[in-house]
Amino acid sequence: MHYYSIRMHASSETRHVSGAERIVSSNEVDQTVIEMVRRAFGKKTLPSMVSITIDDLGAEELRSLTALDITALTTRSVEDGRRAAVHVLGRAGVSPEAAWKAVDLLGRGPAPGGQNMRGAMIIDAETGKRLEPDAYRGVRASRFDWSPEAEMQIRCLLHEKGLGHFRTKEALALATKIAHGPAVTAELCWSDDPDYSAGYAASFRTGYVRISHLKEPGNDHGGRAIFIDRRTVDLELLVSYLQTQPVLIEKPGRWLAAMDSGEFIKGNTEHV
Ligand code: AMP
Repeated sequence: MHYYSIRMHASSETRHVSGAERIVSSNEVDQTVIEMVRRAFGKKTLPSMVSITIDDLGAEELRSLTALDITALTTRSVEDGRRAAVHVLGRAGVSPEAAWKAVDLLGRGPAPGGQNMRGAMIIDAETGKRLEPDAYRGVRASRFDWSPEAEMQIRCLLHEKGLGHFRTKEALALATKIAHGPAVTAELCWSDDPDYSAGYAASFRTGYVRISHLKEPGNDHGGRAIFIDRRTVDLELLVSYLQTQPVLIEKPGRWLAAMDSGEFIKGNTEHV
């Protein structure tokens, strides 16, 4: 099968408006481009510039992955949500110091001057030191998607569990690619969209743990932190994997549990 990577980026002046990422076969290219244009113009803010890039993946080898297993936590407050996130990160091997530092940075806007980044921070899972080459932009993971069969299965599963928002499916795909990166320990994310306050902590070890509240509604700060093992990381290799290795998710993961974050922290979660 011949595959293409299609990426969309819409901005208004210098502000990011929306983005999308697909890997599709040649006969799906035109339809995918139409969907992306609709998405770029479907936001409250009209874009002043939309770029769509189509790359032939040619002979590049697609890495086939199974999506991370899913746990959904409900939290009563942002504080509880953030505590649950730090707990999950701890299970994955991130020190409390590094985890709280990332929470603090995402809460304030991780780019210099309290701005949001277009990509992710890379953080030493032990010390919390930031290692991404560009602290304004961060590192953007690209070239990942669901296969059509896996997309249908995960869409049905998430819909059935009340998580049918398109963001969850896309975030799960991105989190799956990131979790399989060389020397990656875990990831933390919440959106900068002021209308979307859920987020997740994810890792190969814990799966994808969705957390219902990681920020107050109306807050437009957010971002992603990728925690790495400093002893084994080859930063260039990691950045190259995130940006260029095509990844197709061909199997959905398992649904593990939906529970209150307090219950989760108490440890009634022998399966995670
Ligand atoms: P979103 O979930 O799309 O609202 O994105 C939240 C934040 O995650 C953004 O502000 C970026 O900092 C970061 N981000 C979004 N997409 C990517 C990506 N493909 N790779 C790395 N970081 C990303």
